[in-house]
Amino acid sequence: MIVIMDSGADEEEIQEVEKRIRSFGYGIHRSTGENSTILGAIGSPREDVKEALEAMSSVERVILVSPSFMLVSREFKKEKTAFKVGGVEIGGGKVVLVAGPCAVEGRESYLQVAEAVKKGGADILRGGAYKPRTSPYSFQGLEEEGLKIMAEARDITGLPIITEVLDQHSVEIVARYADIIQVGARNMQNFKLLTELGQLNKPVLIKRGMSATIEEWLMAAEYLLSSGNQRVILCERGIRTFETTYTRNTLDISAVPIVKELSHLPVFVDPSHGTGKWKWVPSMSLAAVAAGADGLLVEVHTAPKEALCDGPQSLIPEKFSQMISSLRGVAQTVGRTL
Ligand code: PEP
Ligand code: MN
Repeated sequence: MIVIMDSGADEEEIQEVEKRIRSFGYGIHRSTGENSTILGAIGSPREDVKEALEAMSSVERVILVSPSFMLVSREFKKEKTAFKVGGVEIGGGKVVLVAGPCAVEGRESYLQVAEAVKKGGADILRGGAYKPRTSPYSFQGLEEEGLKIMAEARDITGLPIITEVLDQHSVEIVARYADIIQVGARNMQNFKLLTELGQLNKPVLIKRGMSATIEEWLMAAEYLLSSGNQRVILCERGIRTFETTYTRNTLDISAVPIVKELSHLPVFVDPSHGTGKWKWVPSMSLAAVAAGADGLLVEVHTAPKEALCDGPQSLIPEKFSQMISSLRGVAQTVGRTL
């Protein structure tokens, strides 16, 4: 249930309402908005409790919502969620550009591509140190050595870094280096991992699972928020459809405006995994920005043919820079900067 406090309610009155909510056996999440405070009552919605709370003079209104994804919903928080990572604002007016290779393959190559994407206009560096590979015989990542290389790239470029965590065992080590932690498509419903990441003081980007509905994706994000982490980014990265020849996944651009209406969280788009082919990345990036994406996650490699992971979908740095220039006009049209 969502309890909207009267705009004039003071701290004492808010606490009184919280006490009442708890007395019915509910948990509480408080959101302090610009105009009023909203309390999320965690538990099954009940008409009698709604009436009891609405009888309190400091309560403006109670909304009975199904608790499946309450904290991520627009009903719970009207204002868009925005936060800063390093000097970069996520969910603000600027479309955030995250770029880098699929995997960190070595020090020289990573530092080179990091410098190149920074020059091209990237705001955040990406790279995988722990890779979720379909085959156990494929390159699995450099693990901590990869994280160290990314941290060095951050020192050199001044850009924050995002990298994926694969399991609960490596949360601590990844959090030691990363500015944003990525939950991959394959882990979207790893609820124990999500709960642990929810207790961390680090922003988390959660990819949409390859067969996940929008509701399942939002409920996965709800795990992060309900366990304490409010700095969450949703990332659409394509879903499985019957098409496997011309694209690797089907990028669901329609998810962007839908999720932005349903949720206050920033929504990014990953056109690289979304298409699987570098050739379609620029047009899908244009579409994503036009649809209202708050950021793009793009794979860039200096020598895609030699890449240990996801070469066919990686742009070379020159193409990345060209793409950024062409995105500016679209960003402006939809009231964003780039
Ligand atoms: C990645 O970003 O490199 C990755 C593995 O993505 P996804 O989880 O979307 O497949
Ligand atoms: Mn990849």
